[in-house]
Amino acid sequence: MPKLAQRMSRAKPSTIMLIAEKARQLKAEGRDIISFSIGVPNFLPGPHVYQAVRDWLDKDSGSYGSNRGSADLLDAFLEHMKGVGLDGYTRENCAVAVGAKHILYNLAEALLDDGDEMAFPTPYWTSYLDIAEILGAKVKLLPCPPEQHYKLTPAQLDEALASKPKIFLFNNPSNPTGMVYTKEEIAALADVLVKHPDTWVVTDDIYNRMVFDGVGYHNFVQARPELRERVIFVDSMSKTYGMPGWRVGMMAGPKAVADAVVTLNSNHITNIPEVASVAAAAALSGPQDVPTEKRAEFAKRRDLVVDILNGIEGVKCPRPQGAFYAFPDISCAFGKSHNGKRLENDVDVCTALLEAKGVACVPGSAFGEPRGLRISYTCPADELEPGMQRIRDFFAELS
Ligand code: PLP
Repeated sequence: MPKLAQRMSRAKPSTIMLIAEKARQLKAEGRDIISFSIGVPNFLPGPHVYQAVRDWLDKDSGSYGSNRGSADLLDAFLEHMKGVGLDGYTRENCAVAVGAKHILYNLAEALLDDGDEMAFPTPYWTSYLDIAEILGAKVKLLPCPPEQHYKLTPAQLDEALASKPKIFLFNNPSNPTGMVYTKEEIAALADVLVKHPDTWVVTDDIYNRMVFDGVGYHNFVQARPELRERVIFVDSMSKTYGMPGWRVGMMAGPKAVADAVVTLNSNHITNIPEVASVAAAAALSGPQDVPTEKRAEFAKRRDLVVDILNGIEGVKCPRPQGAFYAFPDISCAFGKSHNGKRLENDVDVCTALLEAKGVACVPGSAFGEPRGLRISYTCPADELEPGMQRIRDFFAELS
């Protein structure tokens, strides 16, 4: 048999998907499983979204759509951007693709040559590393341990950009930690970015509507408008509108970058399915009850999760202020045993937790921080507290 391309030896399936699959399998075998593994919203978009789709089906011509994205969706996205302080962009600055993951892949393809460097903070969303590896890019990881609340400091950024990476990839609010940068922290990082004109800044802000405690969502372009010519804002319909399966992601940035994504679209996908565009435009431009209600609900869930975690002796969980993840430092369990099994690392802890208590979490090493473990608190409401109690019991049983 002829060989696969060399790049496939660097491509691997997502760890999160593997754990979610294992949890699904155990459930199918009749085990009582609570899954805190995958970040899937447990809600659907509002009724107006489905109505817009029904209306559109009657008119559908079945023809190809625009490589950039439909005008209605681009306009709805531009309105949302104004709402978060990103004014003055036009359709030409934007492009739509099959989810933010596809946007990020397109951006990496459009901006990186072989061997170029991409820098990003750790813990990171798993696909950042996978995308870089598939494309043969070098990766510079910027460690942000729990002691600094998983946040990047201006000094770290300044040092990292000295080697002129082609892309600095930033994620706010963060998956997996739920950390949100304050206005002052964003301004301080933006001041550093201004000093490093050779680096593109890709800011993956898909949880920008999911911010708690009144901290608000802030971005580099608001802080330093001159960064507009290098910053690419990434957004998605998946998480806050309960639409992950519709696969709609968007970007806004310099026209040349948006045009490059459009060119890649024209070769890869032509256009995202029109039905998904219609649904996304309706969700963005219609009533915002779903994201608003969910934000309040997730803030309450966050409190429950973090309070239980920080009540466990030795576990430390910096308080997330956004997204729907908690990322406790569970290294206190390393070297201890559960049911006679010694736990050496985060993978051992997650495996024992799943086997003994039926709770699925993702090991922190999947995100580049092996002292952690990610809890996604989007499960059905009646599973959250029992699942957290099982985690508490698990730690109490360590010897
Ligand atoms: N970026 C981050 C930080 C994410 O957490 C995710 C999904 O989990 C994505 C991008 C991809 O989102 P999408 O469903 O739009 O592809």
